[in-house]
Amino acid sequence: MRDLPFTQAVMMGLADDGGLLVPEQLPDFSDELDQLSALGYAELAARLMAPFVDDLEEIQLRRILAESYAPEVFPDEVAPVVEIDGIHVVELFHGPTLAFKDVALQFLGRLFDHILARDDQRLNVLAATSGDTGSAAIHGLRGRQRMAVFVMHPRGRIAPLQELQMTTVLDDNVHNLAIDGSFDDCQRLLKTLSGDLDFKRRMALGAVNSVNWARILAQMVYYFRAWFEVRERTGASRVRFVVPTGNFGNVLAGWYAAASGLPVHELVVASNANDILPRFFQTGVYARGDVHATLSPAMDIQVASNFERYLYHAVGGRRTAQLMRDFESGGRLALPPEQRADFRAAACSDEQILTTLRDTYERTGYLLDPHSAVGYKVARDLADDVPTVTLATAHPGKFPEAVQQALGSAEAARHPRLDALWGKPTRRHDLPNDPASVRDFIERAQNRAAQPA
Ligand SMILES: *Cc1c(COP(=O)(O)O)cnc(C)c1O
Repeated sequence: MRDLPFTQAVMMGLADDGGLLVPEQLPDFSDELDQLSALGYAELAARLMAPFVDDLEEIQLRRILAESYAPEVFPDEVAPVVEIDGIHVVELFHGPTLAFKDVALQFLGRLFDHILARDDQRLNVLAATSGDTGSAAIHGLRGRQRMAVFVMHPRGRIAPLQELQMTTVLDDNVHNLAIDGSFDDCQRLLKTLSGDLDFKRRMALGAVNSVNWARILAQMVYYFRAWFEVRERTGASRVRFVVPTGNFGNVLAGWYAAASGLPVHELVVASNANDILPRFFQTGVYARGDVHATLSPAMDIQVASNFERYLYHAVGGRRTAQLMRDFESGGRLALPPEQRADFRAAACSDEQILTTLRDTYERTGYLLDPHSAVGYKVARDLADDVPTVTLATAHPGKFPEAVQQALGSAEAARHPRLDALWGKPTRRHDLPNDPASVRDFIERAQNRAAQPA
């Protein structure tokens, strides 16, 4: 990101040429680990992020982080570590929507707010969701004066609880658009509207998707936090991280942590039946396939949108551009083994998710959600004398259908905050699967918001 100030990179999301923004240089924290280990979560985040943030006063960054990770937002710790039968599980689901995306989106919403106020700007955020991202974005942006958020979901095709997590948010700046179509249709609408440059400029249209650099940065922090915790408990100074992976954002944050001096033994990509990444790390061929619907829907991807960032660090900018062109045109790209040595990878079927959920619950009393089960299963399979950490990315209560299937009852998965959603008033707008209708809706909302109250 040479010549591009941090706040501009954050507002931009993608580079002008459509490529992903990557940092030019990485800091080295390896001599500071002992000092960093004594810090609270927000303080630690400020220290780790500061070298990447060149155009925001440190005192502002600290304030934004302190607010993002305050007890009102994360009532328990941000990333507590529990040991379940020899595996260290980092629980990242203590935020407002009970999924790990809160950790980054609570920060991103407050960061946007600060930048927009500083520059006297407004922003309209458009997103497409099949569940988790939409609700985390809504809860990160709700009630913010200078932003409106428009989240498209396929009408009637997302889990009822996930829909309620979005539609029970009644703030004026939150708009749930229930599209008469599939999730792919929603993504196509997003692409069409973001590609309409005139509209994009007029509406100051922005994105909060997983390629936003600030999201990756926020996710680096809990790798450090977990490493400190595990070192303290085990005395070991190298740790293995196993990460349930979809768009490769979370595990890439772990890679940046390791590249910035965190002693990581290895990073393991854990995928569900959508195994494009495990196939790549095993064979060197990254090839587009069909998306399979699984019990861990937030990981049902065809192409991992952050993967290009890893390519850049592995083979450089020019080669990456060429590889991405190969991939666009032929649906595949290939790399030799030495250039993909930074990750290990394994896949886990729906059958294995159910068995892992059930076995772990029966043996230990600990209930995993179907995404975290993917990581836990892969972690168990690798277990040796290296301390192994896996990231729990959602609370099981968000996926009662999978829990029901595994245990015969979803009772153990209940969470009071989810129970409280039933019967609350909701608001959503049903729209046809048609770019003009969505465009119109956003324009009318923008005109209303621009009028003095
Ligand atoms: C988004 C998500 C993932 C996948 O994370 P990526 O950063 O896309 O790899 C895994 N689990 C849950 C619950 C998620 O919401």
